[in-house]
Amino acid sequence: MTIQSRNADLKRVPFSDLALQWREIETDVMPELKALFEASAFSLGPWVDRFEEEIAAYIGTPHAIAVNSGTSALHLAMIAAGIGPGDKVLVPANTFIATLWAVLYVGAEPILCDVDRASWCIDPTDVERRITKGVKAIIPVHLYGQPADMDRILALAARHSLIIIEDVAQAIAARHRGKSLGTLGRFGCYSFYPGKNLGAAGEGGLVVAEAADAARRIRCLRHHAQTERYVHGELGFNYRMDGIQGLILSHKLKRLDRWTEERRLVAERYRAAFAGLPVEVPRAVNGDHVWHLFVLHSPERERLRAHLTALNIDTGLHYPVPLHRQPCFAQLAIDRTTFPNADRNARECLSLPIYAGMTSGQVERVIDGVRSFFSRH
Ligand SMILES: *Cc1c(COP(=O)(O)O)cnc(C)c1O
Repeated sequence: MTIQSRNADLKRVPFSDLALQWREIETDVMPELKALFEASAFSLGPWVDRFEEEIAAYIGTPHAIAVNSGTSALHLAMIAAGIGPGDKVLVPANTFIATLWAVLYVGAEPILCDVDRASWCIDPTDVERRITKGVKAIIPVHLYGQPADMDRILALAARHSLIIIEDVAQAIAARHRGKSLGTLGRFGCYSFYPGKNLGAAGEGGLVVAEAADAARRIRCLRHHAQTERYVHGELGFNYRMDGIQGLILSHKLKRLDRWTEERRLVAERYRAAFAGLPVEVPRAVNGDHVWHLFVLHSPERERLRAHLTALNIDTGLHYPVPLHRQPCFAQLAIDRTTFPNADRNARECLSLPIYAGMTSGQVERVIDGVRSFFSRH
C-alpha cells in the first residue's frame, strides 16, 4: 500500500454529507433564489405554494400544509384531531423526543409503549395491552425509515376508535400496500430538518390530511389562526414555512426517489456484508424501508463504536436515552421497568453512515471496519 492510498484510507467517513446534495441542486437553485429575493417572498408565498402542490402529488394526498418544523406539524395535527387535557395518547418509548412534545403541548397524557424487537417501531401487542378508557389517539412513528406494523395498528385503531397521527419524519417516500406513509391515518406529519431524507436549508415540516375542513384549520393555525387580515379565529401560531425552504425542497423532491434508491443500495451492501457476523442486522420487516438510518444492534456497541471511531468512521446513536428515562419526565408517574426493548435499543443500537452519494470506497471502509472488529474480538 502506498503512503498516498493509506492517507486516503484514513480520511474521515462522515455520518452524512449534505454538501453533496447542494452540489446537485446549486445550478437550478441559484437563479430562482435571486428571483425569490427580488420578490421578497420570504414567508410562505409562491415557492411554498408550488412545493405544497408538488409534495401533495408526490405523496398522493389532497391536502399538504407546509410548516416550519416537524414538531410544529405534530403539534397542529394534535390540535386538529381535537386532542387535549383528559385525553391519552399512545406513543413509542423509542423515538425522537419531538413525538412526545406534541402530546404534552396540547395537555394530553402520553402512554408510552414498548417497541418491537425486529422493526424497533411501536409494538402492537404492547399497544393493545395499554389501551384503556380515555385513550383517544396513537402516534405510530415510522422509525429509521421503516413503516410501523400498520396492518395491526389500523385494525386496533378501528376496533378501539383511535385517531391515528403518523410521525413520518424519518420515512418520507416509504409506502404501505401501495400508499404513502402519512396517508394511512387521519394526519401524516413530516420533518424537513436538514439531515432527514428530504432536508431543507434550515427548518421545515409538513402536515398532510384527507379531510378538507381539518386541512383548512391547520392552514389557518400555522398563520396566527388568521381568518382574514388581522382577524384571528382562535389561539394561533407562527408556524409558517420560509419561502427559501419551499424553493430548496422543490429541487430536492425531484431527486428524492434516486437518493432513496442510493440509500437502499448502501443498506443492501451492508446487509449482505454483515450477514454472518454476531450482530443484529436491520431488515425491512414491514414491507418497505427508506433507510433514513442503518441501525445495528450489538451488546458490544461501545467497543465497536470506539473501534470505528479509531478508524475515522463516524457513527451515531438513535436513541441512547429512551423516553421513559428522560430527565424531563422524572416526575412522571410511570413504571420504568416495562420497556425492555426500548431499553435494549438504547444500550445496543449503533447507526452507521448512510446517505445518497456515499462512495463505494466509503461503504467498503465501513464494512471492513465492522468486520475487522469481529475478527479481532
Ligand atoms: C426529526 C423528527 C421529528 C421532529 O422534526 P423537527 O423538524 O426536528 O421538528 C419528529 N419525530 C421524529 C421521529 C423525528 O425524527
